[in-house]
Formats: sequence, C-alpha cells, structure tokens
Amino acid sequence: MSPLMFRARSMPSQSPRASATKQTLEGRGRIDQKGVHEPLFSLEDWLRVQDVFDGKAMAPRRKDINEDFPLRGFVCCADCGAPMTACWSRSRNGVKHPYYLCAQKSCPSHRKSVRRDDVESAVADVLRRLVPGQALLKLAAKMFKDVWDGRVSKSGAAVNSLKLKQQSCKNRSTSCLIS
Ligand SMILES: [Zn+2]
Repeated sequence: MSPLMFRARSMPSQSPRASATKQTLEGRGRIDQKGVHEPLFSLEDWLRVQDVFDGKAMAPRRKDINEDFPLRGFVCCADCGAPMTACWSRSRNGVKHPYYLCAQKSCPSHRKSVRRDDVESAVADVLRRLVPGQALLKLAAKMFKDVWDGRVSKSGAAVNSLKLKQQSCKNRSTSCLIS
C-alpha cells in the first residue's frame, strides 16, 4: 500500500434511527444486505440531513470543510485510488469526529472512513522522511540555472535598450545644439 493511501473502516453508527435511515438510504433495507440499486443520497448529504433533523446543524456543513480537512482530495483510497473526501460524524453522545472517506460508488470501501488523525499523522510521517534524491537535486540545479540564465539574458536586453535610448538622447541633444 502506498504511504498516502488509506484502508477505510466502517463508519460508527450514530443512533438506532440514524442507523436504520442510513441502511435504507444505502439500499440495504431491514435485513441489512446491500441492495442492487444506487443509493438515493450520498453519505455527506445524509449526515447533513441527520444533523438538521437532530437540530444540530442549520448552516451548510461544507462551509469551512477545507480548513477542517486540509488533505481532502490529496490522499487516495487504498482500494480504488480515488482522492478521498471528508466529513464530520457525530457519535451517540453528540461529539463530532472528523473522518476522511472514499466517495466512489464502485469502490468496496465506498462510504467507509478513516480517522482524520490517522491520515494526517501518516502523511506527516511520510513528509518527515522525504529526502531529495540525486536526480531531483540535479533537476533542481538545472531549473535554477535556466531561470538564472533567463534573468541574465533579460537584464542584458534591458541594458542594450537603455544604451540605445541614451544614444538617441545624445543625438537629439547634438542636433539641437547645431540648429
Ligand atoms: Zn475507494
């Protein structure tokens, strides 16, 4: 598994009503088997509706989701490779917990989640271990030289342009003095 890919686990249930509603919306029905039809709502939409039913959320859930989940869209699902999305999930005691999850309907880990702390600490570990290789250092040096040469070339052209203007001024000055 890539260090930036995560195995999802089942989302914790919130309440008997929420669980039953979730199963219905996922197409599983009363016998807890996954249905053959597409779910009517996404998990994020369902969580938003549950919060509204519970009187816990009247504002849009996604208002500041990018601040809460900086890796949303950058970390990928280990099963399908798609970028993961994120959401807040409320536990039975009302405490909100942050999760990253796979939103791909065709993925076996669809709507399963990984705790935000697990994802972010794993990514931080990867970043701490990153050391540039020789090829990357050579490439960076070449890119720096290309930029430097471009600036030197531009400054040379600017100097030539100023010299031409200076000569033009001298010529006009001379012609004024003669006439
Ligand atoms: Zn997936």
